[in-house]
Amino acid sequence: MASKSRSKRIPFVDLQRQHRDLRRELEAAAARVLSGTGFILGKETEEFETEFAAYIGTPYAVGLANGSDALHLSLRALGIGAGDEVIVPAMTFAASAFAVSYSGAKPVFADIDDRTLSIDPAAIERALTPKTKAIMPVHLHGHPAPMDEIMDIARRKGLAVVEDACQAHGALYHGKRVGGFGDAGCFSFYPSKNLGACGDGGALVTRRKKLYESIRSLRNYGQPVKYRHDRIGYNSRLDSMQAAFLRVKLRRLDRWNAGRRRAASYYKEFLKGTPLRLPQPAPKVSPVYHVYAVRTPRRDALRKALGAAGISTGLHYDVPLHLQECFRDLGCREGDFPVSEKAARDMVSLPMFPEITKAQVRCVADHIKKFCGA
Ligand SMILES: *Cc1c(COP(=O)(O)O)cnc(C)c1O
Repeated sequence: MASKSRSKRIPFVDLQRQHRDLRRELEAAAARVLSGTGFILGKETEEFETEFAAYIGTPYAVGLANGSDALHLSLRALGIGAGDEVIVPAMTFAASAFAVSYSGAKPVFADIDDRTLSIDPAAIERALTPKTKAIMPVHLHGHPAPMDEIMDIARRKGLAVVEDACQAHGALYHGKRVGGFGDAGCFSFYPSKNLGACGDGGALVTRRKKLYESIRSLRNYGQPVKYRHDRIGYNSRLDSMQAAFLRVKLRRLDRWNAGRRRAASYYKEFLKGTPLRLPQPAPKVSPVYHVYAVRTPRRDALRKALGAAGISTGLHYDVPLHLQECFRDLGCREGDFPVSEKAARDMVSLPMFPEITKAQVRCVADHIKKFCGA
């Protein structure tokens, strides 16, 4: 692998490239924060919250320490806890279901749709019990979950909806940005996310004023007023430095997402005719390709061949949550969620970042074609 010339290597993501372009602006943002002293919940955090809420199209946003806390605190603020159940897709990053466990409620897994890889509304119906309090759809890989069907089930059954939009900043479902459909929309600003900080960060968006106020209090030790604690709160704040960086980057988000969509269209063009299954966006959605995962039964061999050619790939994710050791006590077994299990076996994520060039995508595709014998 190392013997290939450096210039030919294709990384999985390339943050260095992004930060090189933004260096002066990021340094100016850092200098601005350093010259003030409001490092926690200062002006930058407030400005970012206003700008991010406007971007998603919700009246409120709250900056938090990370995406996991956004999920956890929204369940808390919705009054969900011990004795309750929250329906989560079996195929997602573990943090989605961890947030349910943190709240004291029980994650109940549901299978995904084989075409969209999002939680399957029919599977949600099957997972409902009298203890169900909420549904947590995940916009996996930046593909919007079927929010019309999910909101319809939630309305009929009186359930809350917490969107895990941690991979889907800016993705559109029927013309509107995800995160704004449910009671709460949760975002992560982990550096490699579509909108990433230079450290950890997260946010929650909502249309509900009460929920907004509750989250603002929960993130800051449950103090509506300094040293008055009306509940046991947390320390989960988006700091000013990260907020300042995020303000610089938010202005680029649409352009970056367009770059990802362009890369996806190149992959589609160059991989035509291969036996790989490519991502299939549902009608009337505009995904943001946090991850570009293709599917093949020869996944492991393909990864190896690409790796040997200096092309980095990833697996998102190769063990579904119901088969993870940490959820063993939920009593799930292999075969319980066959669509998730099959996806875990045959998905491989190809290099995807806004600045990836047409030539780089062509190079990845050429190596795939060589592997397929096409
Ligand atoms: C990244 C991510 C999270 C967690 O976000 P953190 O900021 O790392 O806590 C949760 N859910 C999904 C789907 C994610 O991709």
